[in-house]
Parts: sequence; structure tokens; C-alpha cells
Amino acid sequence: MSANINPFHTAQRQLDEAAEMLGLSPTLHAFLREPMQEVAFTIPLQMDDGSHEVFKGFRIQYNTARGPAKGGIRFHADETIDTVRALAAWMTWKTSLVDIPLGGGKGGVICDPRSLTQTEMERLSRGYLRKIAHLIGPEIDVPAPDVYTNPQMMAWMMDEYEVITGRHLPGVITGKPVGLFGSQGRGDATARGGMFTLRETAKVLDLNLAGAPVAIQGYGNAGQYAHLLGSELLGLKTVAISDSRGAIYNPDGIDYQEAVEWKRTTGSVVDFKGADALACQELLELPVTVLLPAALECVITAENAPRVRAKIVGELANGPTTPEADVILHDNGTYVIPDFLCNAGGVTVSYFEQVQNAYNFYWPLEEVHHRLNATMTRAFYEVHEMAQSRQVHNRLAAYLVAVKRVAEAVVLRGWIR
Ligand code: NAD
Repeated sequence: MSANINPFHTAQRQLDEAAEMLGLSPTLHAFLREPMQEVAFTIPLQMDDGSHEVFKGFRIQYNTARGPAKGGIRFHADETIDTVRALAAWMTWKTSLVDIPLGGGKGGVICDPRSLTQTEMERLSRGYLRKIAHLIGPEIDVPAPDVYTNPQMMAWMMDEYEVITGRHLPGVITGKPVGLFGSQGRGDATARGGMFTLRETAKVLDLNLAGAPVAIQGYGNAGQYAHLLGSELLGLKTVAISDSRGAIYNPDGIDYQEAVEWKRTTGSVVDFKGADALACQELLELPVTVLLPAALECVITAENAPRVRAKIVGELANGPTTPEADVILHDNGTYVIPDFLCNAGGVTVSYFEQVQNAYNFYWPLEEVHHRLNATMTRAFYEVHEMAQSRQVHNRLAAYLVAVKRVAEAVVLRGWIR
């Protein structure tokens, strides 16, 4: 992430442009520019050696006009309140774009998860949940995993919530393991949804993706599954991958099983035998057909956007492209699948998980895939057609679709007329 760019300012600037085109009143626009509710707190934690440390946490409910807040929890050393605000805003537009009855929220803890043991991670997860327990619930706000949080942590948090409330309520949190009221298909949903939008992009661009080279920045949940599903569903060839420690490149392709195993055993993609080392920044500028940012915010900026050579940028990460870079990519003819479309598969299946929890009746994997495909394909064409009809880039088109729905709900509720 570029250190000088504030992601919340980016999110607000993106909204401003859409608000003007939609002709929103100044009051409604001002209301949508800020979170409706935010909470910051400390979490004291006993470490394994008996000492104590204090961590800072956040939960933000950005907008609930269209339903309960929905959004992940990020554990990251560089977490800031403005990062959480930006992510919460993008969740609001994302749930609206895929037209599921939810609002947007986000949470986080400032910590370096790699320096915590498994037992410390469990206590921190439970400690975080205790601080937000009174703020969440299936009808209020439903957290989920994000960067450096995972299904096991969601299981601990769900358990902590049930201990506090004394009742069974698995729909309080999503992204749980399948063995503990999670949904089939949630694990790879973000990448799978992204691949569905990539498939449709290839159709509208009349591009053949079979054997086409791909570079993936970030090799966690979204990045690894994109590697696997890009190959399985679209025949793509992943030639470069990176994580927080470095990048690797092999123009003949990187084997998925071997790369994942290497990452699992060594903790990084660095020094993988089947590829050469690459500077992290160079990955973004490789001559590939598809570039998939799947790590953090603000990585494609005005500085490097002119050197991006991919035909398609599929934003699996939230907020990887700054507003200036958006214009440059658009002018250069790069087709950007904007974040809150490209990565909406995660929240879509999280919503399916909530529905299944509420009914206490669980769907087979095929049903999840079928419904996800339908949702992502519909949202893709809404954005694509908006971009064509208003002659704007895809991100602005996505904002026009999403913000209009949220604004309408705010007005219908009578919050602002
Ligand atoms: P994750 O924690 O599983 O993986 C993150 C990966 O990014 C790790 O491999 C990490 O090493 C890498 N990374 C961190 N800093 C990096 C850097 N500077 N350069 C290259 N790689 C770097 O997280 P995730 O769940 O895969 O999330 C990745 C992105 O996708 C985030 O922007 C997240 O908000 C977004 N996202 C995730 C989901 C989901 O369901 N997991 C849904 C929607 C959006």
C-alpha cells in the first residue's frame, strides 16, 4: 500500500463523482460520505508468557439503509481508522451492487498476526468479539473474515457470542468453517465470483482467455483460489505471484499445488523453486493479459498506472487503484473490473450463509455456485451497460448503480428527503 494515500479520501472522492452525476442533494451526499456509526476500543490481552499487551480495535457501521451492516474484520499492523472507514464504505456499495439486503460495515485490530501464537490469536479474537458483542447480531451487523482473519477465528468469535448471549445464533458471523454452520462454497467464493466477472469481461472484449498469462499480487485466500480457479474455470496460466515478502515469475506458468504447498510450509512464495525472483512492483507491470491485485489498497497509483500492461485488471483486493490511476487505465484502454464488483462473491456467499443459518437448512455446493454465478453475472452486466450508456469508466458505473440504490433507501426511510 502506498504510504501517503488515505484510502478513505479515495473512497470519498469516488463517491463525490457519482453523487454529482446522480444529482444527489448536498445533504444526502454529505450523509453518504460519512459512516453512520463507529466505535474504537482497546483489547487487553494476556500473552502466552504471562505478560500483557493492549491492542486497538475498531468496528464501523457505515450505512444500514438497505439492511444490517455487513463486513469483515481485518487484523493488520498498518490498520487505521481511515482504512476501516474506506473498507466499510466499499462494503456498502458492494452489497448494494449485488443487490443483497444488507448494508456495509467493517472492523479491524491493529496487530501483527504473524507475531502471535495460535492461542494468543484465539484470545484476541474472543477479546475483539467481547468488545463488539452488544453492537452486532444477524439483524444489526454481521462480521466476516478479511485480511489475516480466517474461518477458525470466525468459529471462536461465534462461540464467544453464544457464550455471552446464552443462545445459538450462528448467523451473527459468516465465513465460519463448514463444520460449524458455514456455507459450502464460502472458502473460494471471492475468487470464484471474480472469475465469473472475468469470464464475462472476456466475452464483451471478445478475448480468448485459454492459456492467457495472469499475474496475482497477494497469495492469501483471494489470490490462491484465483490461481486455482483461473486455471480450472477459464484455462488461465498464472505466471507471477507475490506476497508481503516478495514476488516470483515464470513465463511458462507456476504450478498451483506446488506453489501453495511451498507457501504453506515456508510461509511465503519467496524462493519457490519453479520460478525466478521478481521485485514486487514489477509484478504489476508485467506483459500479462490479466492482472489480479489480491492484497491491499492503493497499489496502482498515478505513478505506476502508465506502466500497467495488462488488458484486464480484476480487482480482487479492495481499493487497489487510486482515482488518478483509474483515469490513466481507462485512457490506456485497460478494462478494470472494479473491486466492489470483482470481489463481491465473498459477501454474496456470506449472505447465502446467513440465509441458511436463519432457516437452519443447508444447501448443496452446486446450489451455492449456481446462485453465485447468477448474482455476479447480473451485477457485471448492470455495470457494463451503465458504463456504455453513460460513457464512464467501470468504477464510476458501479458507483452509479450502487449509490443510487442506497440513496433511494435513505429517502424511502425518510431519513433525508
Ligand atoms: P489474506 O490475509 O488471506 O491474504 C492477503 C495476502 O496479501 C497475503 O498473501 C499477504 O502476504 C499478501 N500481501 C500483504 N501485503 C502485500 C504486499 N505489499 N504485496 C504483495 N502481497 C501482499 O487476505 P484475503 O482474504 O485474500 O484478502 C485479500 C484482499 O481481498 C483484501 O483487499 C481483502 O479486503 C479483499 N477481499 C477478500 C475477501 C475474502 O473473502 N477473503 C472478500 C472481498 C475482498
